[in-house]
Amino acid sequence: MSRGPLAEHLTHVVASLSQRRAALATVLGLLFFALLTAPFGERRMGDFEALGPAITSAVMVAMFVSAGMLRNQYHTTRYVPFAVLAVAYSTTALLQLPYLLTFPHVVSINGFGFGPQVATYFWLTWHAAFVLLVAGYVWADSYFSRKAVEPLDAAEFLRRYTLLAGVCAAGSIAAIVSFHQDLPELVTAGGYTPLYHLLVEQLLLASACIVMATMIARNALRHTTHLWLCVVLVAFAIEIYVSGEIVTSRFSLGWYMAYLEAAAWQTLFLFVQLHHANEQLAAFAADTRTLVEETQRDALTGLFNRRGFDDRFESALAECGTANSPIALLVLDLDHFKAYNDHFGHLAGDEALRKIAAEMTNIVNRPTDACCRVGGEEFAIILGGTDEAGAITVAERLRLGVMRLRIRHAPEIPLAAMTVSIGLAVEHAASVPTAKSLYERADQALYRAKRTGRNRVVARNEPRDPNLRVVKRS
Ligand code: GH3
Ligand code: MG
Ligand code: MG
Repeated sequence: MSRGPLAEHLTHVVASLSQRRAALATVLGLLFFALLTAPFGERRMGDFEALGPAITSAVMVAMFVSAGMLRNQYHTTRYVPFAVLAVAYSTTALLQLPYLLTFPHVVSINGFGFGPQVATYFWLTWHAAFVLLVAGYVWADSYFSRKAVEPLDAAEFLRRYTLLAGVCAAGSIAAIVSFHQDLPELVTAGGYTPLYHLLVEQLLLASACIVMATMIARNALRHTTHLWLCVVLVAFAIEIYVSGEIVTSRFSLGWYMAYLEAAAWQTLFLFVQLHHANEQLAAFAADTRTLVEETQRDALTGLFNRRGFDDRFESALAECGTANSPIALLVLDLDHFKAYNDHFGHLAGDEALRKIAAEMTNIVNRPTDACCRVGGEEFAIILGGTDEAGAITVAERLRLGVMRLRIRHAPEIPLAAMTVSIGLAVEHAASVPTAKSLYERADQALYRAKRTGRNRVVARNEPRDPNLRVVKRS
């Protein structure tokens, strides 16, 4: 399956040092609270019936959102393991539904008459499903990072994988509902049975540890997804341990602690994803700004190109209109540049253009100004908030600046150095109907400057004295 470089980059985001530190701090924090609770785990904290269901319902939503975000990641990157992990989160969330329905005091007082055994089996099913499906993700990541798969094959694989997970989940629910009376007891009024402690708890802990160890062995948690999934599994294991070894009765400190650890592992990945999505959004915005900026720059001179000029001209006109201040536009054209090119060659011509552009940016550098290359050897300079006298001063400086560069001209041109002709037009923005008309007037002034001998500045197109370098309108 061919995926673009951006998708490739988003597939395996390498965890930064600060992410690793945050992950370690999270693990230490979760362990710290669990250990802190251990000596007081049996202390009764008051019967707060609504807390458990409230937390379970909230985290169920969080898990569905995680699944949705992972699905989006799959659609963006076409990296199958993201969809496999989405299946892990959505299946686990779905399996919480029968747990909530059969847990006493959540939807009905007596859990629709099923009793605590059924709810415990559902609890077990959703925990076991999560670890197994995360193991499925670890396998998928190992497989699909090495093997290119055609999009149709990937879609077919995901269809089958999702169907298998769904059938297993539905089958487990049906089996528990149908045969719960025949299933061995996992809880009694006094807490978990020895069967739970000796087999179920150990199996859950062992499978979480195996999945964690596999992830660590595979790539030392270099990638953010693995790093945070490992933290999720640590919290998962702490929940299993606390609920099995510390909790002796409902509404004890240990019991509440187990709920908080459960809430931690079920919501943690969502927070990580949201953080990651925010960072990506900021990076995309910055990239887009740079790209837009690049599309508005001329590669040879670094000045704004025609597109950049159009944008800046429109916004400068709008700003001057709002502030009711004048705006000046200079249009520059190098004199006899074709002869220069023909004599010295195109590369020398380009070098001359670069030097002249650099000189322009030295002379014109107010934040409201913009130097643009609008054609081969034609430039336009926008001077926001500048009246005619100011614009003529700048234009003269530019003309003299180009002469000072002493770019030797072609021998057949009767000039000591390269020169430039400049036409300028100035107007109060409020009275300028369009950008086009101001440009046309500056262009006509340039035409006049060319016709009246070049190497001069002409304001508008009504010179009184053709010998004048600067010809102002009356
Ligand atoms: P005038 O004084 O009337 O402006 O004469 P001119 O020879 O400069 O005429 P014009 O303004 O039409 O110049 C066009 C020439 O500019 C054609 C080409 O040789 C040169 N030119 C245009 N774009 C480039 C470019 O990107 N690089 C180089 N080296 N030369 C260019
Ligand atoms: Mg030209
Ligand atoms: Mg020219």
